[in-house]
Amino acid sequence: MKKFDLQAKNVKKYIKIKKRCKNITLFEPKSATLLLTKFRNGDEMRDIIGHVSSVETMGTVDGPGVRYVLFMQGCNLRCKYCHNPETWALDGKALNITPGTMIRRILRYKSYMSKDGGVTISGGEPLLQPAFVTALLKLCKFHGMHTAIDTAGVGIDHISEILDNTDLVILDIKATNEESYRNITGHSMQRFNEFLKILDTKPCKVWLRQVIVPGINDTEENVLNLKEFAKKIKNVEKIELLGYHTLGVSKYEKLKIPYPLSGVPEMDDKKLEKLQKLLK
Ligand code: SF4
Repeated sequence: MKKFDLQAKNVKKYIKIKKRCKNITLFEPKSATLLLTKFRNGDEMRDIIGHVSSVETMGTVDGPGVRYVLFMQGCNLRCKYCHNPETWALDGKALNITPGTMIRRILRYKSYMSKDGGVTISGGEPLLQPAFVTALLKLCKFHGMHTAIDTAGVGIDHISEILDNTDLVILDIKATNEESYRNITGHSMQRFNEFLKILDTKPCKVWLRQVIVPGINDTEENVLNLKEFAKKIKNVEKIELLGYHTLGVSKYEKLKIPYPLSGVPEMDDKKLEKLQKLLK
C-alpha cells in the first residue's frame, strides 16, 4: 500500500513537471521516480558545462522583481558602446559550471526573490551557450521560478527550445535597419531577423531595449522607427531607451583593445527623457 501511494505521489509530481517544463525530451524518463531525482539534481546534464562570467544575486533591473542574474561568457557582436568586453570570448575568464551545480546555487537565493522575481540569464550573449541555457531554464521552471533571458537575439541553436522555457525576453534592439545595425555591431542583421521569426511563434512576454548614443542614434527619427519596428513584435510590454555611458572604458584599456567611441560624450539625461516620451 505504501509503495502504491509513493508511486501515485510521483505520478502527480511528474504531471506537474510536464506542465512546468514544456519540453522535456532531453530528459526522457525510464520512470517518473528516476526522472524526478535526476531532473531535480541536474544529473542528466552533468556533461553540459556553462561558462559564466559573473552573477548578481539580488538584481533589480534585469526583469521584474528581485532576480538572480547570470552573465554568460561569449558574444559574437562587437557593439561600439559595449561596456562588457571581458565577456566577448567564450573561453574567457569564467566560472565553468554544470546546470545542476548552478541551480543548487540559485536555489539558495530563492526565498529572497520577490513574488514576481526569478532568474535572468544575460551576457555576453546567452544564446551562444544553448545547451547550458536550455538545461538551466528547464531546471528553473521545474523549481517554479520565473525565467528571463536578456539577449541581442543572435543565437546559434536551440532557440525555439530556449524560448519554450522563457517567460520574458529582454531584447536588445541594436538598430532597425541593416546599415545602422552593421555600423553599431559590425555584423549583419540576418541572425537577429531569424530570432524574431521564432519569437513570433512563442507566447513569451517581451521588453525591448535600445542604447542611445550621441551622434549615432540619438535622433527622433531613430526612436520613431523603433516604435514602428516594435509594432511587428508580439507581446511587447515596454520599450526602454538606455543612455550611453563610459563606464566600460577602463576595461578596454585593461584588455588593450582600442575603444571605438573615444571622445563621444555620455548621453544627456534630459534628451533621453524627451526621446523616451516619443515611445508613449
Ligand atoms: S551584444 Fe551586448 S555583450 Fe555583445 S557586444 Fe553588444 S553590448 Fe557587448
